[in-house]
Amino acid sequence: MNKQTHYDVIIAGAGPAGSTCALALKESGLSVLMLEKETFPRDKICGDAVSAIVRKVLRELDPKLELELLQKVPGTTITEAKLYSPNFKSLEIDFALEGSCMRRVDFDNWLFTKALSNPDLTVLQQTQLKDVSYGEDCVVVKTNKGDFTADIIVGCDGAHSVVAKKLAQFTVDRKHYSGAVRQYYRNVKGLSGSALEVYFLKGYLPGYFWIFPLANNEANVGFGMLSETIATNRIDLKKCLSEIIQTIPQIAERFKDSEALEDVKGFGLPLGSKKYTLSGNRFMVCGDAAGLIDPFTGEGIETAMDSGKTAAALIIKYASTKNYRAETLRVYDNLVYDKMWPIFKDHYLLQRILGKRIWLINLLIRIGNIPYVQKNIPKWFY
Ligand SMILES: Cc1cc2nc3c(=O)[nH]c(=O)nc-3n(C[C@H](O)[C@H](O)[C@H](O)COP(=O)(O)OP(=O)(O)OC[C@H]3O[C@@H](n4cnc5c(N)ncnc54)[C@H](O)[C@@H]3O)c2cc1C
Repeated sequence: MNKQTHYDVIIAGAGPAGSTCALALKESGLSVLMLEKETFPRDKICGDAVSAIVRKVLRELDPKLELELLQKVPGTTITEAKLYSPNFKSLEIDFALEGSCMRRVDFDNWLFTKALSNPDLTVLQQTQLKDVSYGEDCVVVKTNKGDFTADIIVGCDGAHSVVAKKLAQFTVDRKHYSGAVRQYYRNVKGLSGSALEVYFLKGYLPGYFWIFPLANNEANVGFGMLSETIATNRIDLKKCLSEIIQTIPQIAERFKDSEALEDVKGFGLPLGSKKYTLSGNRFMVCGDAAGLIDPFTGEGIETAMDSGKTAAALIIKYASTKNYRAETLRVYDNLVYDKMWPIFKDHYLLQRILGKRIWLINLLIRIGNIPYVQKNIPKWFY
């Protein structure tokens, strides 16, 4: 039974943002309480594309971690993306750096166990943060397992973050939010094993269908769209996914002998196409809680980890004075957005320009195959 109720730091959520933050606080000597509503290993609805930047963040934390990830977590090595236009012409983009595809249940569990190496970390699983408010010189957190206080709280509690809602006054803006569904499959025909396949399909724009290769001849298959479009046109994403797989001939042919390994599952993506307030008196928010998903690629693992690491560095910096005032922590917003906003801004533009314009997507994929253009595309993605 956990008796301690005050900690230097409380981290809400043990996903990539929370676990990275806990790991980065490892040698700080600060007492850290990480609250997690699930029990690990837990699944997270995702495309499972673990980008090269994830590996970079791991190397920055500890050079041994990248190799350990590749040895311990089953996955595929990703070297390219194949984009398909509505007329089924393809554009192959070679990535400058290798990434991976790994089931999130495995990746997140591995990262979570790394966080446990922090000797000053207490983890309470099956513990849901219900409310957070200010006490005298502290934050007060209410959970289903009792109340806790801390000098500072880091909100890493994902897309439905209580910390972001209560302390940063976040509200969902459908123009900057996506919905997506995922279903695992086995034996999809023609999987290359090293390419992320992304399809822009007539009748399903703006949005895209994906097939990402996993270990053991399995694939992560999904479809996503902006929440504004979903709401306005009353789109049923689960229905769209099964229609695409069953009725579009080029795709249906590949799924003929495949086996679905689960029911279709969906989740939201808070996109980084809008700037939020990421910090304030005694709090910072990271990852999905901070709306840091790339508005075009849908990638958010790397930004979750990077923001978790940045938050930890600032906590260490100000720990001796416990100066966690809003004015001091404002530097967190600057550090995060200085790095991420230029990419988010460009990718948002791309998302808006392409939209439903079938002719433009067809044209861009044709132009993209011109050798000079193709050589320069990867720079644009990283
Ligand atoms: C369909 C889909 C496909 C995607 N594909 C990709 C992809 O291929 N590559 C990529 O990089 N990104 C992808 N993303 C985005 C990626 O999943 C997220 O950006 C990433 O998981 C963010 O990590 P996080 O730690 O911020 O949040 P999460 O991973 O959501 O972790 C939050 C944690 O907090 C816990 N929690 C939540 N609320 C509470 C509470 N009140 N109290 C206690 N604990 C709580 C949750 O149980 C969870 O463990 C995709 C997202 C979706 C929905």
